[in-house]
Amino acid sequence: MSAIDTLPPLSQVIADHGLSARKSLGQNFLLDLNLTAKIARQAGDLTECDVLEIGPGPGGLTRGLLAEGARRVLAIEKDTRCMPVLADIAAAYPGRLEVINGDALEIDPLSHLTPPIRVAANLPYNVGTELLVRWLTPKEWPPFWQSLTLMFQREVAERIVAQPGSKTYGRLAILSQWRADARIVMSLPPEAFTPAPKVKSAVVHLSALEKPRFDADAATLSRVVAAGFNQRRKMLRASLKGIAPDIEDRLLSAGIKPTERAEQVSLEQFCALARAVKLD
Ligand code: SAM
Repeated sequence: MSAIDTLPPLSQVIADHGLSARKSLGQNFLLDLNLTAKIARQAGDLTECDVLEIGPGPGGLTRGLLAEGARRVLAIEKDTRCMPVLADIAAAYPGRLEVINGDALEIDPLSHLTPPIRVAANLPYNVGTELLVRWLTPKEWPPFWQSLTLMFQREVAERIVAQPGSKTYGRLAILSQWRADARIVMSLPPEAFTPAPKVKSAVVHLSALEKPRFDADAATLSRVVAAGFNQRRKMLRASLKGIAPDIEDRLLSAGIKPTERAEQVSLEQFCALARAVKLD
């Protein structure tokens, strides 16, 4: 395998800096730099972009992003132990890597970034899902990012791209697909990571649409989708009873049978329902 840069291999970096993986920080590292470069390529052409990377750890993906030509990378990492390693990478790519030591859930990175901006990350599951939901629900659309390239547990990745009629179809699919194109672009076995997690992983690429795929008010759509999927086995006329007293009429006006269940209803129909409910 050819080296992607002149820095030491990641296994040596980890040994030299005593970076034993911490479960509390969800640390499962990618040590194959050819693999991290491949993930970086899934983020698209980075040469004209700033990249926000969350959770660089020992820097495998960071090095992939820089080697693939990212204009600049802003990396936010909670684990202070990783700072010297990340400083070595910054020195090898002068002026192109800025590192912030902190919690990505508490830091607003925008003042450190210049558009166009893409996001790339291999994050612990719970932090990744929370950030994804935040990135998909900004006050204004289009959002600050052009694309998100994110590693998830395979099961979460499937929920993001799920289609009506499948067991994994739900709020995350609607939220992701309403204002973005979402695709699974890579699958990774547990052995790709050190230590190996129990589950398979997948990289999801989401690119932001200029405007929502179908017209709807974000808060109303979120309310009807939440009510429908909170009781996903009930018919919509029952699960949405609290939304409006005449919900059956509104379902019909949106082209949805009141006896249908949420998992059968398309994104387009949910948006039509949000418009029908919002009328008052
Ligand atoms: N990107 C590296 C890679 O691919 O090998 C590390 C991935 S590891 C799954 C997740 C990284 O996210 C760890 O380095 C961990 O310390 C960091 N992390 C966990 N929670 C975080 C948070 N709230 N904010 C920033 N970084 C966090």
